[in-house]
Amino acid sequence: MERSCEYDAAVVGSGPNGLAAAITLAERGLKVVILESAEAAGGGARTAELTLPGFHHDVGSAIHPMAAVSTFFSSLPLSRFGLEWIKPPVQMAHPFDDGSAALLKTSVKESSLTLASDTEAYIKLIQPLVGRFDGLKKYLLGTMRLPENPLLLASFGLKALRSAENLSMSSFKGALARGFFAGLAAHSILPLNKIPSAAFGLVLCITGHAAGWPIPAGGAGSISSALSGYFASLGGTLVTGHKVDSFTDLPDARAMFFDTAPGQLLRIYDHRLPAGYKKSLQNFRYGPGVFKIDWALSGPIPWKAEDCHSAGTVHVGGTFAEIAEAELSA
Ligand SMILES: Cc1cc2nc3c(=O)[nH]c(=O)nc-3n(C[C@H](O)[C@H](O)[C@H](O)COP(=O)(O)OP(=O)(O)OC[C@H]3O[C@@H](n4cnc5c(N)ncnc54)[C@H](O)[C@@H]3O)c2cc1C
Repeated sequence: MERSCEYDAAVVGSGPNGLAAAITLAERGLKVVILESAEAAGGGARTAELTLPGFHHDVGSAIHPMAAVSTFFSSLPLSRFGLEWIKPPVQMAHPFDDGSAALLKTSVKESSLTLASDTEAYIKLIQPLVGRFDGLKKYLLGTMRLPENPLLLASFGLKALRSAENLSMSSFKGALARGFFAGLAAHSILPLNKIPSAAFGLVLCITGHAAGWPIPAGGAGSISSALSGYFASLGGTLVTGHKVDSFTDLPDARAMFFDTAPGQLLRIYDHRLPAGYKKSLQNFRYGPGVFKIDWALSGPIPWKAEDCHSAGTVHVGGTFAEIAEAELSA
């Protein structure tokens, strides 16, 4: 006979992934508890007064292109729990020292017109992917599986499974388009001469055209509070200020989910993990650390390029060579 437990599932960590896992389980009628070490839920998706009183800063994430296209997110009634998306008129601006700026706008044509000599090249590279984005997105955001439409995926793969340097240098001639693409591809946190840094640039670019790069009103914390609110409405329990350091800190639950770093899972659950899985956790290669500055500003930033004032995101990286050098030294 199956042992009865207090919970069907316990989730350690209430970042967006922990909350998503907990909601998925609770929506199926399971009794779920989330244990979070911080005093507030949300992990990298929190908003706090980090500088001066009244200045609300995002602790981690600020712009959410993937939430805009996620099938999971759009299946949730998050507006009922206070989540409201703001779509900026310009998704992203990439200014240069001479006062010019390349722009990511909803229209591929309008964006291309900010790329000087690469107008046609940009349309040729990006438009076919934007046109097929609905078909592509389940492969880009979903789990790895055999594609039902291999030709569609292959058409993306031919462009994407390259380094940003290779794609950018072979597709574009001018400094504006090359710098613009480098800024997008740098989100890969890979050196720009490494495969598949081009894929990150392309996905962010086509997402900007197809669905925008929305900002949650009130900051990223609004996403987490809407997810937490919905989870509570499903009967879920969220315990904050509860750090799980060892197996003994876990509740009585039939299944455990960890929204933590691999090293933490090893420390907490070490003796229960199969040897092969333990080895893969031990061999996990962490990415570079993050450095972030929050400023409390007395007024708008005096950008030389006027369009930066309408942009939700400004990539301050300069030319392709400057961004590539910065990524290499990270
Ligand atoms: C500076 C910065 C800027 C970013 N900007 C963006 C952006 O603009 N757009 C975007 O989409 N993404 C951005 N990201 C990435 C985004 O924040 C992460 O991808 C996302 O937060 C990952 O979610 P997660 O649930 O996997 O983990 P996390 O958000 O890290 O959540 C993990 C949670 O687990 C808790 N936890 C860990 N260990 C334990 C334990 N032992 N016991 C109890 N609780 C524990 C932590 O306190 C945390 O709340 C940014 C990240 C950073 C750092």
